[in-house]
Amino acid sequence: TPVPDYLLEIRDLCSTGADGRLADYIPELAAVDPDRFAVAACTMDGVVYTAGDADAEFTIQSMSKPFAYALALRDRGIEAVLEKVAVEPSGDAFNQISLERDSGRPRNPMINIGAITTHTLVGPVGASEEERDEALATGLSSFAGRRLEVDTVVMNSELRTAFRNRAMANLVRAGGIIEDDPDEIVRGYTRQCAYRVTVRDLAVMAVTLATGGVNPVTRERVVSAAVARQVLAIMATCGMYDAAGDWMSTVGIPAKSGVSGGIFGALPGQVGLGVFSPRLDEHGHSVEGVRTFERLSRDLELHLMNTT
Ligand code: GLU
Repeated sequence: TPVPDYLLEIRDLCSTGADGRLADYIPELAAVDPDRFAVAACTMDGVVYTAGDADAEFTIQSMSKPFAYALALRDRGIEAVLEKVAVEPSGDAFNQISLERDSGRPRNPMINIGAITTHTLVGPVGASEEERDEALATGLSSFAGRRLEVDTVVMNSELRTAFRNRAMANLVRAGGIIEDDPDEIVRGYTRQCAYRVTVRDLAVMAVTLATGGVNPVTRERVVSAAVARQVLAIMATCGMYDAAGDWMSTVGIPAKSGVSGGIFGALPGQVGLGVFSPRLDEHGHSVEGVRTFERLSRDLELHLMNTT
């Protein structure tokens, strides 16, 4: 079957039920069309295949975390970032206070408290809020191969209800892990989560990690191979939060989800994948997105631990 036909088939097979519910803790996310579905794949040489509502835009949310982590690693070096954020799976939900007992470091950069801390490490030391925002805008856009824009409606909607994230920023500030103003950091982190993307963007961003840091569409080197490897490793162990073990055993692709209903996966040296469908399961992952990845992994034999 040619790839586009196969993706259409996947869409029919996986976009069936009305299981799951929309994220509602960010008021604006509860207002999207729940029946949207889109899938995209980008090959190592930059060819993108899509099916479904491939031009539908949604906010990147937690799928920004691996890319912000990549930019922090690039800008500050792996050692300096490890001093602030650990790399152990927490086994907890994305919004829990998961800090290491002795060091006070957030357990990993994929959960919110770790991502809020990582946000402070993007850009040069001493960067202002504007400089950090610009470093993120430029960096995320380099991964996508086009200039990404912030959805200010979603951003402001989330900011009005970001009580937990504000509490967590204050906790890492109180623990001496960050030195920045917590309100400023939550504003920047919320902005980071509000960039608008499509599944095509996700597939290109993903393959830019899978190639070892080069965007195959623009041919720009965005991060080093060492940084890409570190990010993929953390996605594999922590990207799917408290479902990471389940995901790694059934799907076997380093991945990250977001509460807007997107999931992207990056299979090292092989392919970048993006799926979008807004209804979520109890972990905050897209129900149909998970189903689609399970199917893709099985049909295309993408599991990282396949031995043949
Ligand atoms: N912006 C969301 C938050 O911080 C991201 C969560 C997610 O996508 O899992 O709550």
